[in-house]
Amino acid sequence: MTDLSCDVLVIGAGPGGYVAAIRAGQLGQKTIIVEKQAVGGTCLNIGCIPSKALIHAADEFHCVKEAAAGHSRLGISAQSAAIDLSRTMSWKDGIVRQLTGGVAGLLRKAGVDVMTGMATVLDGKTVQVETGEGSVRIACQNLVIATGSTPVTVPALPFGGDILSSTEALALTEVPESLAVVGGGYIGLEIGTAFAKLGARVSIIEAKPHILPHYDEDLSKPISARLKALGVSLSFDSVAQAHDPQRGLLSVRKGDAVEQVPAEKVLVTVGRKPALQGFGLESLGLDMQGPFLRINDRCQTSMRGVYAIGDVTGEPMLAHRAMAQGELVADVIAGHPARWDKRVIPAVCFTDPEVVVVGMLPAQAKAAGHQVEVASYPMRANGRALTLERSDGFVRIVHEAKSGLVLGFQAVGAGCAELVGEFGLAVEMCATVTDLAATIHAHPTLSETLQEVALSALGKALHA
Ligand SMILES: Cc1cc2nc3c(=O)[nH]c(=O)nc-3n(C[C@H](O)[C@H](O)[C@H](O)COP(=O)(O)OP(=O)(O)OC[C@H]3O[C@@H](n4cnc5c(N)ncnc54)[C@H](O)[C@@H]3O)c2cc1C
Repeated sequence: MTDLSCDVLVIGAGPGGYVAAIRAGQLGQKTIIVEKQAVGGTCLNIGCIPSKALIHAADEFHCVKEAAAGHSRLGISAQSAAIDLSRTMSWKDGIVRQLTGGVAGLLRKAGVDVMTGMATVLDGKTVQVETGEGSVRIACQNLVIATGSTPVTVPALPFGGDILSSTEALALTEVPESLAVVGGGYIGLEIGTAFAKLGARVSIIEAKPHILPHYDEDLSKPISARLKALGVSLSFDSVAQAHDPQRGLLSVRKGDAVEQVPAEKVLVTVGRKPALQGFGLESLGLDMQGPFLRINDRCQTSMRGVYAIGDVTGEPMLAHRAMAQGELVADVIAGHPARWDKRVIPAVCFTDPEVVVVGMLPAQAKAAGHQVEVASYPMRANGRALTLERSDGFVRIVHEAKSGLVLGFQAVGAGCAELVGEFGLAVEMCATVTDLAATIHAHPTLSETLQEVALSALGKALHA
């Protein structure tokens, strides 16, 4: 058994853990990061990046397919469309390799030691790692738990064979004839839409009355409409019961009725849970908040010197939240007076059309006691949207009635993910609708919708 010691020991090299380690290294802390699988975590290896690569490939294929079917309104024609999904996956894997290699390089540059192996927590200051070369015991001044999350299972549909989690779905090398997606959250919708564009017969089964149940129905309606146009069948208030792999059917119960949905493969995306079991963490008896580790605004757990960041600390389970916490925790450990004081954690669903949510939804702003006004502006009034052949969706602004202080933005539209930065900046900088309406936005861009929605909020709309 080898014995090592360090100032900062990070368990998990996802976006939370690797950012914490890089920053800690830059701040002169002797830092070790332990990862049992691959540097980059869920996000780089099996999450954000692979899913966006697949979505892009599916979009490109869909355009060629439409042209080959004579449906191009742009006058483009093509002989036929074909896709070799195994080549698509190799291309995606290349991007993953490039990014994870980049992260490994950044860790090296920051002087961080990367150890590959399973970490087990012995106590708040000691961790044992099983590496390929044997056991290593590490004593640390500060321990950062960044072990991420894993997919939630449905007891009637255990993962394995034709029942896939997002990980297996993002590694398929052939397009299934039919794919049933259980769970209409963003992960299921993103992957389901991609496979529909790749030619699979896709069905989405959602237990709630609409897809994206965390958001209001106005936001999900344009997506439902587009899914239907793509031939995707949607079942709401429905529960998946059992899969028959021989017949390729999934039985789905809606009220008293049970119907059979075509399902060569079943993708189960009913949520993710924090990865907190199986590595000795229970022995610390840390305070919990529901299923997550309880932390304060300095990412400190209930035990001195033990910190937690990323998906293990709660919703929203998103890469950029994990990264922001990673940066913060390194500053805290280095003795800086840093605290979590963000106004917003933006969220993007890379569905078709995309959805962006920044800050408060109208109902949330009302519940928080604000005197709220809401204005919206349709994408169909935006020249750029029309040149991109898409006029569905809208931009919505939530602001305080008296002061005009912007409390939140929501947008639905093809390509609107790129508006997220401007939305976030506006809320974080405490902009008012007057500030936004007075900012010249380049023409023709989708970003003009932001200025226009601010003008609408002031009752001075020009192009609507
Ligand atoms: C299909 C999919 C698409 C997604 N798309 C997006 C998106 O577009 N945008 C976005 O913001 N978020 C997205 N997410 C969510 C995002 O991936 C996570 O929020 C993010 O990865 C969380 O980062 P983390 O550092 O907390 O944990 P993770 O990225 O999960 O990393 C944790 C790491 O810890 C390691 N580990 C766990 N236990 C141990 C142990 N005992 N010893 C050693 N190592 C251990 C794991 O192997 C893992 O690599 C997506 C997720 C999925 C599944």
